[in-house]
Amino acid sequence: MLEIRNLVVKIADEDKQILNGLNLTVNDGEVAAIMGPNGSGKSTLSYVIAGKEDYEVLDGEILLDGENVLEMEADARAAAGIFLAFQYPLEIPGVATMTFLKAAMNAQRRARGEAELLTPDFIKAVNGAADRLSIDKAMLRRPLNVGFSGGEKKRMEILQMALLAPSMCILDETDSGLDIDALRIVSEGVNALRDAKRGFLVITHYQRLLDHIIPDTVHVMSKGKIVKTGGKELALELEKSGYAAYGEAA
Ligand code: ADP
Ligand code: MG
Ligand code: MG
Repeated sequence: MLEIRNLVVKIADEDKQILNGLNLTVNDGEVAAIMGPNGSGKSTLSYVIAGKEDYEVLDGEILLDGENVLEMEADARAAAGIFLAFQYPLEIPGVATMTFLKAAMNAQRRARGEAELLTPDFIKAVNGAADRLSIDKAMLRRPLNVGFSGGEKKRMEILQMALLAPSMCILDETDSGLDIDALRIVSEGVNALRDAKRGFLVITHYQRLLDHIIPDTVHVMSKGKIVKTGGKELALELEKSGYAAYGEAA
């Protein structure tokens, strides 16, 4: 369970406040969507939860299963079960995708005091997840994300998510730049990971993704706060009315 209370955040080396007293709860097993105009602070929220360094928290708290996330380094947050799938996955030349995946899984296991994965078990896990996400195994031998299409990068993010089995999955505009087939594959990958324990925070500007990943809750974010909360029908309302009422030109 993720609880965010009165979160106030500014850019570290600027006088720019971006989150202005944000409150949000994501329960175990809940798929919560956040929708909102560009610039409302959605990516900032996901970065602050994941522990990116460029931000300064001025007030408020973030608790994961009652533990104070803000006191943890980014790697400790990942070990505790927080996973962020990026809006723009980075290309990492020189690091083979397989090497990266194994390092990520073993870092998580070490932080949890678990033994490192044996190579045959790792290969089996990756191959199984790659098959389920329609990822070409040749991609796994290439440097991470280098030369991957937009859809391939997003599928790679979901593959990482499947392998790390986080308790709190944050997807920041994972739908941007996806064609309908890639959107369906990514959504099926997410839906396959839904269970009674795992929470999801699905951030999107468009309603389209939420036709495929049906949320339990929809929050509207504007100017660094959650300003409205409803059920999945709220996404459809927003699709019709646009964000004009929330500070974005129609
Ligand atoms: P969203 O994801 O909803 O589009 P962002 O969190 O990306 O919103 O951005 C919120 C606001 O903060 C925007 O005005 C953006 O320009 C600004 N911002 C975000 N990150 C930085 C940064 N590292 N430096 C300066 N401004 C930033
Ligand atoms: Mg944006
Ligand atoms: Mg964003």
